[in-house]
Amino acid sequence: MKPSVVAIKQQEIFKFNARAKSIPGAINMTVGEPNFHTPEHIKQAAIKAIKNDQTHYTVPEGDHKLLGAVANYLHDKYNLNYDPETQIIATTGVTEGVFSVFNAILRDGDEVLIPSPSFTIYGPDADFNGASPVYLDTSKTNFKVTPSMLEEVIKTNPRIKIFLLNYPSNPTGVSYTEDELQALANILKKYDIFVISDEIYSELTYNFKHISFGNILPDQTILLNGLSKSHAMTGWRFGVVCGPAEVIAQVNKIHELATTSITSITQYAALEAYTNGYDDPLAMKEQYQSRRDALFEGLKELNMECPTPDGAFYLFAKIPAGFEQDDVKFANELLEEEHLAILPGSFFGIGGEGHLRISYAASMENIAKCLSKLGQFLKSHKN
Ligand code: PLP
Repeated sequence: MKPSVVAIKQQEIFKFNARAKSIPGAINMTVGEPNFHTPEHIKQAAIKAIKNDQTHYTVPEGDHKLLGAVANYLHDKYNLNYDPETQIIATTGVTEGVFSVFNAILRDGDEVLIPSPSFTIYGPDADFNGASPVYLDTSKTNFKVTPSMLEEVIKTNPRIKIFLLNYPSNPTGVSYTEDELQALANILKKYDIFVISDEIYSELTYNFKHISFGNILPDQTILLNGLSKSHAMTGWRFGVVCGPAEVIAQVNKIHELATTSITSITQYAALEAYTNGYDDPLAMKEQYQSRRDALFEGLKELNMECPTPDGAFYLFAKIPAGFEQDDVKFANELLEEEHLAILPGSFFGIGGEGHLRISYAASMENIAKCLSKLGQFLKSHKN
């Protein structure tokens, strides 16, 4: 097993964040989690579960009342039709979901196709499960996979077993329209390939309707989602894996071996979120949208282009022409000189070079400071 390039980059992210934290008063725009708290009614449901001693082992896949609530929610929001008895399990976040799905599907020598730049866990997860990541550079196609590039890479890499799709994307914020998804599905249905669709940011889209790949190509899709981003519940560790019953049964075996089940208390919190928390994401989304707009406009004034930010809470800004630094040097100097922490795009793999990932899970005040510091830095480094 060889360490993936992206695994190494993940360590770079930890190191960079540690440096940012060591600088007193530094503005941190690297954060990958909501800067909101879990809604009160969800917290109360968890407290009630503890008080009622609902603190024992559960079945591995999660309480069936919870899975029923998940099925209803996914149906009401995305028109998905999963049978809660056989097609959904609850996992310790999407993070465990990716690992358990890879472990259930992959065999030594298989390949996992990962559009790049990408979230950092997919490549290492492929490595750990005996497969190799194949990175597909999307930087020339607006950070999206096109049907022709998909078909070409599948034809030249016949061992691809999984196509990992994540939209809205971390780190770029781009998403896919229904037509674009359909065009990808038309290619994929000709091959024996599973699509693992990480839709953890599905609720955070701005003037953009999220269509789930579970609707587009149900027989080949394993959908990953959860509550971390939509309901500001990162620390609760709740995710779901949904898909064809025979695959889900295998994934559940791996999940049981690794975890027995997710914690009972989180399951009660999640039951409340999926039953009475349909509107919780809306207020947060409204705020993200104003922040996104302010940051996007400000970056435009600094001549920093971004791909269309359809969702999530990241902008992927291009470092303007005329600045000699590579993105890592740029980010390091920005941190040293202006005390502003932004992650270099190349930390997210091939195609990320020359970009910066700016998180707007941050206050308006910090967004204004970020823009002013960036402006100052660009001015003082102008040749
Ligand atoms: N998938 C993507 C694309 C992410 O950006 C993140 C977190 O940043 C995760 C998954 C992790 O999700 P979870 O908290 O459910 O493990």
